[in-house]
Formats: sequence, C-alpha cells, structure tokens
Amino acid sequence: MIMGINTFGRTKTVFDVLIIGAGPAALIMASALAKHGVSLQGLAPTPPDTPWPNTYGVWCDELETLGLSGLLGSCWQNTVSYFGQAAATAPTRHHRDYGLFDKHHLQQHFLDRLQSMHWHRGKAVSVIHNADHSCVTTEAGADLKAKLVIDTTGHNAALIERPQPKHHPVAYQVAYGMVGKFSKPPVAPGQFSLMDYRAEHLSEEELAGPPTFLYAMDLGEDVYFVEETSLALAPAMAYDTLKKRLQKRLGADGVTVSEIHHTEYCLFPMNQPLPKLKQRVLGFGGSASMVHPATGYMVGAMLRRAPDVAAAIATAIASGAVGAAIAQAGWQSLWSTERVRKHHIYQFGLETLMRFNHRELCQFFDSFFQLSQSKWSGFLADTLSPLELVMAMATMFSHTTNPVRVGLMGGVGIDGQLLLKSLIGTP
Ligand SMILES: Cc1cc2nc3c(=O)[nH]c(=O)nc-3n(C[C@H](O)[C@H](O)[C@H](O)COP(=O)(O)OP(=O)(O)OC[C@H]3O[C@@H](n4cnc5c(N)ncnc54)[C@H](O)[C@@H]3O)c2cc1C
Repeated sequence: MIMGINTFGRTKTVFDVLIIGAGPAALIMASALAKHGVSLQGLAPTPPDTPWPNTYGVWCDELETLGLSGLLGSCWQNTVSYFGQAAATAPTRHHRDYGLFDKHHLQQHFLDRLQSMHWHRGKAVSVIHNADHSCVTTEAGADLKAKLVIDTTGHNAALIERPQPKHHPVAYQVAYGMVGKFSKPPVAPGQFSLMDYRAEHLSEEELAGPPTFLYAMDLGEDVYFVEETSLALAPAMAYDTLKKRLQKRLGADGVTVSEIHHTEYCLFPMNQPLPKLKQRVLGFGGSASMVHPATGYMVGAMLRRAPDVAAAIATAIASGAVGAAIAQAGWQSLWSTERVRKHHIYQFGLETLMRFNHRELCQFFDSFFQLSQSKWSGFLADTLSPLELVMAMATMFSHTTNPVRVGLMGGVGIDGQLLLKSLIGTP
C-alpha cells in the first residue's frame, strides 16, 4: 500500500525536490535522496506501485558490488553469444553470470524506502522558475512547487531541453520478442544467449541489410524468452522485419511456437544528444540520456550513479544554495567532464558499429569479448576511466581483423568530431 497518493487542486507547500515520473529512474533517485532527509514529492499519471511494463536485465556482479543481488529474479551461469554466421558456430562463452530483475521486487524495494513520500496523480506539462523555487503545472492545472524539479519521465522527457541532433539522426534499439512455450527449446536448456548473430537462415538480401541478433533465455518450466533485436539503427528497424526474422530463425531450427504468454515490443533511443547541462530542471534516467550508447543498458548505471547525484543535491540544499545552483550541482555530478568525454567515445563506437555489415559486426564483437573480462565488463558498465576506455579500444584494435580496423579508422574520418569533443569534454 502506497502512502500519500492523492489527486488535488493547488498546493502552496514548497518541497525540496519534486520528482516527475514513477519509473525506475524516479524511484531509484527518490530513495537515494530520501537517505539524506530531503523532503520529496512525486508526480505521475498512475500510482507509483503500478507494475512496470518492462523486465530489466543486468550482469549479476554489478548488483553484487552494490549489495543488491537480492533484487534478482533469475540468474544464468551458462551465458553465451554467437558471432559466426553458420548454425554450427561454436559459442563464445562469457564466464559471467547474467540475471533478470524480479521487477515487482525491484519496484517494491524502492517504494519501501519512500513510505513518507507524497505522490500526486497527473502529468507535468510546463515549468516556470522563480528565484528560489520552480513551479510545475499539471495537465489538470495544478501547480507543484519545489526547490528542485527532477524530470524522470523517460526518453521522451516532459520538461528536459536538449539540442537538436547535429551530425546524426537519433538511432533506436528495437526488439520484438515473446515469452512462451515452444515445440522444442529455442536455446539450450538452462542457457542465456546475449547476442546470437548466427544468420544462415537469412537470404543474401537480408544479410546485406542491417544485422539483427537473438537475445534469448530459458525461464524454467519449459518457458523461454526469445527476442530478435536490432542493436541500433536510424531510422528504427520496423517491428515487422524483426518479427519475420524471428519466425524465420525459429523455423530454420525446426522450432514452432506452442503458447505465447507475453509479447514484447521494445523501442528506445540510443544516442539522443545530451540534455542542456545548464537548465534548471535536472534529468535522471532516460530523460538525461543515461542509456549506454553502445548497449542500451541503463538500470545498473542508475543504481550506481544515483547515490553521488543525490549527495550532490542534498549538499547543495543543505548549504543554502537556491535556484539554478541546486540543479547545477546535480548536472555536474551526473555529467561530469569525464563522463561527457566517455559519452562521446561511446557515441563514436556506436556510429562505427552501425556502419559495419553483418560479418564485420560479428568480427568486432568476437574481438571485443576476447578482451580481459575486467575490460569488457568495465566498458559495458561504463566504469572505466577515459584512459582505460581508450586503452581497451586500442587493445581491441590491435587484435581484431583488418576489415574491422578499416571500419574503425574510417570512423575517425567520418566521426572525428566526436573524438575531438571527447578530448575537450564539451557536451
Ligand atoms: C522494452 C524495454 C526493455 C528494456 N530492457 C532493459 C534492460 O534489460 N536493462 C536495462 O538496463 N535497460 C533496459 N531498457 C532501457 C531503460 O532502462 C528503460 O527504458 C527504462 O525503463 C527507463 O527508465 P526511466 O525511469 O528513465 O523511464 P520510464 O521507465 O519510461 O518511466 C517514465 C515514467 O514517467 C512517467 N511519465 C511520463 N510522462 C510524464 C509526465 N508528463 N508527467 C508525469 N509523469 C510522466 C511514466 O508514467 C513513467 O512512470 C529497456 C527499455 C525498454 C523500452
């Protein structure tokens, strides 16, 4: 039972922070702020205990480090990828456990820490700023005041301002998948497949088009999740194309669908421009472009970064900072110069990946996962320093194939401005 949910007209109370949204970013950030005794109110169209639509995946050791392994619902030790074209390709074994959050538990874990948070029902439509507070107006015309507004409304943020993309259109990760039962296991029993790029079932024409891979896992009791995924493409790949490819892949393996329990449609931007870092509203999560531009993962990053951002905000409030100074403290913690630098390097990587054909992409990933595990996991979690990141890429460059090297060097010619920005550290 959630305390403090109400619908209302107008309020004159000025809270320290107003969180807009009730997804993972909202609850993770709110509970990090609550630890500092910051007064909080929330605004979301539905009660904050409304079940989240998505089930999120994460490498298990990322949660171990945070002491949050208890939030996992499932965990696989047999984790593989396939980076060859032929069906007989040997798997790349990751030797690293992968898990799915228990999404109800994940949500409840944070709600339990927000018992005294005051939630309003509604949608934010606009914000105005005064010297010492901001005022958000809802669709129903209510005004909510706070010293700091944090927009956690996801990738299509309600209030966050960001520049138009300059050099590249926004690329999207798109996936079509299903949870269900099949005539025979679509992946080996007990297995988790991160990226299965085997593609013998595709026609020459399909193979020449943008690559897709299978993300799949055994959920137990003869239930499997299979999802055909386009890592990143601009414009986004059509669901229909992914659905046809998934059917073709399963059909080639002699697998037919017996029962569908859930169908997943997944779409989100991978390389949105960074938000304007001087604005009075702070973003967190999808609204703040926190999605990893080379993988699409974000929940682990939110869990890791929320405590520092919350501490920066709480310190600013406690020191008597007002107005823009509080938001600035948050933005500087979230998007420090070092993080901005790495963001451009990742964006360079993504743009280069999108130019690779199927064969080159497989060679790239094959080389990537030959890096030491500390390097590839640090790359995926964004926990390497800029220097370590560059060193990891240099190591990969030295032992990858010539076509991949040519592609990476060509990328420097095309997207050199991203590398330049990474040196300067400007958004
Ligand atoms: C299908 C799918 C699968 C994904 N899988 C993974 C994964 O396995 N691992 C991973 O790390 N990442 C994954 N991601 C990427 C990312 O982690 C998710 O997109 C994540 O849900 C983003 O969290 P968020 O809280 O920023 O936004 P959202 O989850 O989109 O939440 C936004 C919240 O804001 C509310 N809201 C929207 N507009 C308004 C408004 N105007 N006023 C008030 N409230 C508003 C919404 O109701 C919602 O509560 C996935 C994304 C998708 C779409």
